Amino acid sequence: MKKTFLLVMMTFALATLWAQNFDQYFENKTLRINYLHIGDAHNESFALKEYHAGGIWSGTRAYLIEPHRYGSVLFEAFDSTTNTPIFSRSYDCLFNEYRTTDEANTQSRDFEECINMPFPKNTIFYTFTCFNRKGEGKVLYKAYYNPKTTFTIPFSTEFKLITLHKGGAPEQCLDILFIPDGYSRDDRGKLDVDVKDFASYILNCSPYKENRERINIYAIKGFSEESGVTDPNNKIERKTLLNSSYNTLGTDRYLMCENVWRMYDVADDAPFDAIVLLCNSEKYGGGGIYNFYATVCNGAPDADFVIVHEMGHSIGGLADEYYTSETSVNDFYPAGIEPMEPNVTTLVDFEKKWKDLIDPSIPIPTPATKEYNDMLGVYEGAGYVAKGVYRPWQNCTMKEIIYNNFCPVCTRVLIDMFNYYSNREGE
Ligand SMILES: [Zn+2]
Repeated sequence: MKKTFLLVMMTFALATLWAQNFDQYFENKTLRINYLHIGDAHNESFALKEYHAGGIWSGTRAYLIEPHRYGSVLFEAFDSTTNTPIFSRSYDCLFNEYRTTDEANTQSRDFEECINMPFPKNTIFYTFTCFNRKGEGKVLYKAYYNPKTTFTIPFSTEFKLITLHKGGAPEQCLDILFIPDGYSRDDRGKLDVDVKDFASYILNCSPYKENRERINIYAIKGFSEESGVTDPNNKIERKTLLNSSYNTLGTDRYLMCENVWRMYDVADDAPFDAIVLLCNSEKYGGGGIYNFYATVCNGAPDADFVIVHEMGHSIGGLADEYYTSETSVNDFYPAGIEPMEPNVTTLVDFEKKWKDLIDPSIPIPTPATKEYNDMLGVYEGAGYVAKGVYRPWQNCTMKEIIYNNFCPVCTRVLIDMFNYYSNREGE
């Protein structure tokens, strides 16, 4: 009884606190900043393109300052008269993956990026800080935004929105938005079936399954000029809504979209926290980047696994737990440095990871034998390498093509994210 009362009081206190902070600095509307992330293996910079605003603010209100920072780029906004930090969000991006390719040693490229934040009532300044793999950060960009005078383009409302699952109000839920790519008008029927199937893959997978009332799933009804998606290695070129393509950064099955500004234009019609591109293609492929977006395709095998795996990256900031792959990245997890991702460790700073969840009788590192099947441990081999990087479980959904099998560590991270988006405290 007492406990319930305390919980009610705490929830009330939290609700009051976030309402005050949010209302003090923000309107219930979204500000979107479009910019380029430019550079090569050695240098990087940002260049502003334009501002857009509209809709509602569907993101978290309790955690305006992000409690976990899994991304290597940190966006922060400050009240310009008091210098008070009022909003932050970290993310990863295609540019950071490009930097690790051989091409980036000699060639500079630019990548489109966007940040959504609640619309400020007064002038703000904002910064982009980039962290290297050692965790050292550098502020690379600073600019001011005045809500009364800075030129801002209103959100467009081009597309029809389908609600596939309604758990609650957008500002109290993780809002997942499907955007179709490569569906022509003739594929209309297929799109209707696919969005329902993919929503069910999410809702039938733990821990999404147990948290349905904290999740909304929507789909944009958007069609492409041609059916299918671009696949350069098979000489297939398609004119589509978002121009998604296989062979991103030279990896055949890496299916991503570089038209990020267009993607956000299309997404503006919906309340969303996480974008999933649903591509009309039978070839296996996909991708997912933390607080950026995820991509899946409708006709490839194991689509139920692919969507929850890629959303593990894009929503949870989770690392791949596998270590045999064609991923063409160099030195992704340098020795002697604890990775940022919550589900892999180099044992440099294991305290910060899942040590609190492990049974003291389990040996560290843990042998990957039958004896320890389905037991939380520290197994060598993760993050693309067989040595020096460790994973929590022998065959988590972040490692093997097994649907609905997230390990306890990945599960905890995803539940933390539901708490973040639904303004709840950790339970
Ligand atoms: Zn896992």
